[in-house]
Amino acid sequence: MHYFVKERRTFQGLRVLIVGGGDSALDWALTLNDVARHVTLIHRRDRFRAHEGTLRRVREETKADIKLHWEVKGLQGGDRLESATLFNNQTHEEQTLAIDAVVFSLGFQASLGPMDQWGIHVEKNMIPVTPRMETNIPGVYAAGDVASHSAKIKLIATGFGEIATAVNFAMNYLDPSTSVNPGHSSSLDMTGLQANRGR
Ligand SMILES: Cc1cc2nc3c(=O)[nH]c(=O)nc-3n(C[C@H](O)[C@H](O)[C@H](O)COP(=O)(O)OP(=O)(O)OC[C@H]3O[C@@H](n4cnc5c(N)ncnc54)[C@H](O)[C@@H]3O)c2cc1C
Repeated sequence: MHYFVKERRTFQGLRVLIVGGGDSALDWALTLNDVARHVTLIHRRDRFRAHEGTLRRVREETKADIKLHWEVKGLQGGDRLESATLFNNQTHEEQTLAIDAVVFSLGFQASLGPMDQWGIHVEKNMIPVTPRMETNIPGVYAAGDVASHSAKIKLIATGFGEIATAVNFAMNYLDPSTSVNPGHSSSLDMTGLQANRGR
């Protein structure tokens, strides 16, 4: 039983059952398809909550068996996992599936640890920020998945952008004489570079 896939080769040649309907489940169905003997993906609903492109690739590029409205009722085996009993939550039909490994991709429980005792305003396990990525405490900034604002999109690219905003405003908070807008490489004085090149 796995909650994380640390190495693909762990699943080499195995019959793998993946349980879940989010990005993790779909990502692993795609990734393990190349190494596993067979992948079955079950999801308790009829709609996935994953990136559409990944879902399309799983459907079009893998041999994964996708079963909607199915859940795990039990796992059987001795020293090793041998089978899973699945049930359909609509028809109540049961099936026994021979498997060697199961990956539970059922989501994460985020914890802010002691942060919510530091006076930082927390709402629904996220930290509301201004357009400057500033929290309710002046000089304390948040960025990435934990930061919430009205245009929030949880992606790596948007997280990087938010961090650049947070760092620039943090710098300006520490030293108000600095400009919030950074210089760009294309606007640097290139005179020195030209001179060196000429040597
Ligand atoms: C399955 C899945 C697939 C995804 N696919 C894509 C994709 O294809 N493209 C894309 O752009 N985005 C994708 N995302 C979203 C992307 O992963 C996140 O937006 C991004 O990782 C957010 O980065 P972050 O640094 O804000 O948070 P995280 O990456 O979550 O990093 C937060 C870190 O803080 C640590 N932490 C948490 N609490 C504490 C604490 N109390 N003390 C100390 N440390 C703590 C955590 O352990 C973690 O290491 C995906 C997300 C998931 C779950």
